[in-house]
Amino acid sequence: MSAFLTNEPAYNRYLEGGLNLPTYNTDQNGNIVLIAGEVFCRVDSYTSKDAKFSTSGNLRNYLKTHPTISLPPTSRASRYTNSPQ
Ligand SMILES: [Zn+2]
Repeated sequence: MSAFLTNEPAYNRYLEGGLNLPTYNTDQNGNIVLIAGEVFCRVDSYTSKDAKFSTSGNLRNYLKTHPTISLPPTSRASRYTNSPQ
């Protein structure tokens, strides 16, 4: 996880849960767009701490179990950026 995010008050509010999260955006290939530092599954409209993953990587692995969404391929170059491929 990007260490700098933990210094952001808004990100800490996000980690506490209870936020109304928007649905995933998708890129031009139909893959969902994950934001750096994301730890909640948004597929099931989870808003509680129970749906919180310890890292974005764990969330990503879990998201593979959802057949309704498609994950973009990972690459080291794009790991910590949100920019389009
Ligand atoms: Zn889910």
